[in-house]
Amino acid sequence: MPKTALTKDEVKEMLILVADRIIENEPMLSEADRNLGDGDHGLGMKRGMEAVKEKLAGGVDSVEKAFANTGMAMMSSMGGASGAIFGTLWRNGGKALAGREAFDGQGLADLIKAGLEGVMARGGAKPGDKTMIDALHPAMLKAQEVAALPLNDAITAVAQAASDGRDASKAMIATMGRAKTLGEGSIGFPDAGACSVAVIFDAMRDYICA
Ligand code: ADP
Ligand code: MG
Repeated sequence: MPKTALTKDEVKEMLILVADRIIENEPMLSEADRNLGDGDHGLGMKRGMEAVKEKLAGGVDSVEKAFANTGMAMMSSMGGASGAIFGTLWRNGGKALAGREAFDGQGLADLIKAGLEGVMARGGAKPGDKTMIDALHPAMLKAQEVAALPLNDAITAVAQAASDGRDASKAMIATMGRAKTLGEGSIGFPDAGACSVAVIFDAMRDYICA
């Protein structure tokens, strides 16, 4: 049955599915980073998500903590740009949900907005720089638009926007991170972090809509 909102324990289960999907997609994420960077993105994300599974296995106290603990586990287990970036996404996003009993369409919109703001403040990148922001920013815009819908309908639209953003990143010229040195040579490949964002929202959709 598609879910119109999630309890804290369902948020935990959803995040474990997200972790498993990132772990399964390690080869694709590594390949994406080999095309533009140093090839370690998949392994870093995999390590981070293994730490997330361990952390969440102990149970979660709230919707806020389920997301925030995911971010803390990534930050403390991963090196590289993406540990700080993806850790900030979940931690700041989770904090925006303090006091919420359920995770619904409005919660999704608030999570992504606060997460994106944190990532932009932390790393200094903006839309169009060919980073994970190019999947996250369109997801944020779509999430605001569909915030009043039931969660299953909202996440379906948001996951599509994230995947479209990942695809759009292929045409961009990298101006941040390791891919910057490639200049126009970065055209034609999707950003690795944007690929991770698309995997994350697809997994959330699959859990919520199952
Ligand atoms: P590293 O670049 O240290 O090898 P990873 O390979 O794990 O780290 O992650 C690379 C990804 O991190 C990029 O594909 C990009 O999406 C993201 N990234 C790098 N720098 C930034 C930044 N300043 N803001 C947002 N995302 C960034
Ligand atoms: Mg890398």
